[in-house]
Amino acid sequence: MENNAMNRLVAALEPAQADAFLIVDGVNRRYLTGFASSAGWLLVTRNGAELLVDSRYIEAARAQAKNCTVLTFTKMFDTLRERMNLHGVKTVMVEQSYTTLAAWANLKEKLDGFTLLDSDALDKAIGGLRQIKTDADLDSLRKAQRITEEGFEFMLNYLKPGVTERDAALELEMFMRRRGAERVAFDLIVVSGAKSSMPHGVPGDKVIEPGDFVTMDTGCVVGGMHSDMTRTVAIGFVTEEQRKVYNTVLQAQENAIAAVRAGVACCDVDEAARSVIRNAGYGPYFGHSTGHSVGYEIHEAPGFAPASEAITEENMVLTIEPGIYLPGKFGVRIEDMVRVTRDGCENLTHAPKELIIL
Ligand code: ZN
Ligand code: ZN
Repeated sequence: MENNAMNRLVAALEPAQADAFLIVDGVNRRYLTGFASSAGWLLVTRNGAELLVDSRYIEAARAQAKNCTVLTFTKMFDTLRERMNLHGVKTVMVEQSYTTLAAWANLKEKLDGFTLLDSDALDKAIGGLRQIKTDADLDSLRKAQRITEEGFEFMLNYLKPGVTERDAALELEMFMRRRGAERVAFDLIVVSGAKSSMPHGVPGDKVIEPGDFVTMDTGCVVGGMHSDMTRTVAIGFVTEEQRKVYNTVLQAQENAIAAVRAGVACCDVDEAARSVIRNAGYGPYFGHSTGHSVGYEIHEAPGFAPASEAITEENMVLTIEPGIYLPGKFGVRIEDMVRVTRDGCENLTHAPKELIIL
């Protein structure tokens, strides 16, 4: 049997003591079948997986969905009950994280006669699979990152005094979508001057001025995979303090990258970045964690956080993005994505990191 995510999920049924998994989350449905849709149900039993979609999706699902049989329905719960009976299902587990109390009550009523299992075992099984990226995942991620880097190059020519943050963010989004991105990975961040001290600032009408740091946190989606990169560039000139802060963040980032390999504690990688910033006297100005996993969602587990007890594994992909934010003055963040390898990591980000003054 092929060692794909779906087959590994089928193998997780028995330890979870479930006859069936019912997947309702759109991201997980896409992850397992390769088919993106805003609605649908994925029923996983020992006999394999069945994707139940309504008439809006049936043609595309039949052409694109992998590792499952595609079925349609008019009355969703009638079809679901019929399929579960056919596969001898008595106990069924749903995704706890994506089932509201209302949905749970509805399922109890509609699936009367079956036992609904209240457990996080399904969430953990899919979450664990999604942490380890496949070759196909990595291929999409590399494509998304290439477009993101082309976008950064484009921004280096576009940014100049007089341009607004809002226009820069919009131009960058259009650029990446024209290059083949499905969409941007999140609301792009382009913040300048004193606003760069807000780690997740929103691009606005502020005009870029000489002496500003401009922080660009950008990324896009290809094949469902999200890229994520931050670069901070200066406009015209920098002060001594700006240069010192920039170089401290860069040193912290490189120190953390050097600490990554399979089998290390995520908190130790965080500390590799944080200690550099603390020793330079900027400890209180680095409030967020050093990085997060990326994949079918922009923020996934595990992350490089001070409290994380997770251990890295080969082919996890995480960001490394320390920053220093001086309120009312300026901020700097530098972010790469790395793939964990047995003895280190592969940096998937190739855009330059030395201080660029435009
Ligand atoms: Zn980012
Ligand atoms: Zn990030």
